[in-house]
Amino acid sequence: MKTLRTPAALAAAGLIGPERLAPLAAVAARYAIAITPAVAELIDPTDPADPIARQFTPHPAELEADPVEMADPIGDDAFSPVAGIVHRYADRVLLKPTHTCAVYCRFCFRRERVGRQGPLTGDELDAALAYIAARLQIWEVIVTGGDPLVLSARRLAALIRRLAAIAHVKVVRFHTRLPVADPAAVTPALVRSLASSSQTVWVALHANHPRELTPAARAACARIIDAGLPMVSQTVLLAGVNDDPETLAALMRAFVETRIKPYYLHHPDLAPGAGAFRSGLGEGQALMRRLRGRLSGLAQPTYVLDIPGGFGKVPVGPVYLSHDEDGRTLAEDPMGRRHPYPPAP
Ligand SMILES: *Cc1c(COP(=O)(O)O)cnc(C)c1O
Ligand code: SF4
Repeated sequence: MKTLRTPAALAAAGLIGPERLAPLAAVAARYAIAITPAVAELIDPTDPADPIARQFTPHPAELEADPVEMADPIGDDAFSPVAGIVHRYADRVLLKPTHTCAVYCRFCFRRERVGRQGPLTGDELDAALAYIAARLQIWEVIVTGGDPLVLSARRLAALIRRLAAIAHVKVVRFHTRLPVADPAAVTPALVRSLASSSQTVWVALHANHPRELTPAARAACARIIDAGLPMVSQTVLLAGVNDDPETLAALMRAFVETRIKPYYLHHPDLAPGAGAFRSGLGEGQALMRRLRGRLSGLAQPTYVLDIPGGFGKVPVGPVYLSHDEDGRTLAEDPMGRRHPYPPAP
């Protein structure tokens, strides 16, 4: 079986009914589609609410944009001094060598670009690396895209060599979905390329449902971690996928079992046509409260909002401190009881 890239291929694989072919033609013309064999295997086609299908199977509602949505929800463009670079925080930049992914998520905040724009040209990559080399305050390069691990082992090794030549860059972080989307593609050669850096390399895995952490996906992560690269997780809070405490707890535990430290739970960005995935910030905070006290501290992610327009990521609670009428500080325990805490001496 090959990666499914068209509504016709999805129908032939039994993932959509033939009646959906016509309505999906316009979606396919607008947004990239890709479901790898590993992901297709996770889908239960008899379950209309399948949380894996929901993330990857195109839906006609994707063309129904809401006025609050934005083509560039977190303001990448405004902070892009040269092609392939987003520089919002002084000490770190995003480097996007490719806009290709192994799978295309229907809620992706870069959906207007991924799978539609080509990779950086040689000249563009030269200019992006020159931008980093010229700025001594850049301590970390976050390689993202697209999914940078879809690059060949040889091209990754070449990129890593060029980054290693920039002495002030101490940390290189790769953001990827590949260990879930195509575990077999995390080959020993690819891992050797990642581990060949003289800089410290971290890998951030994007996964949203505990079923994504199959034995094969966990083994792919183990290859990365055993090569000496620490891993963290990123999850998008998605209505109908992981917005219930049991699913979220199982996902965070699965990360920790895989030696991946839960890092961020992202409130979904205002990506065009992705309204069906968004719940309220209050619901996200309530879910986070359910994790606190019930789940190992190791399994707690930070719930963050990337403020629309490019103002950056901030933790959005919940908050456990409040004040009573007399101005005394109260600390709330995981059961919801409030306890006074004395002021500083
Ligand atoms: C998300 C993001 C980062 C990384 O932020 P961390 O909080 O360090 O994970 C860096 N730059 C940009 C532009 C981002 O959007
Ligand atoms: S893997 Fe990441 S960049 Fe690619 S479509 Fe999914 S969310 Fe977007």
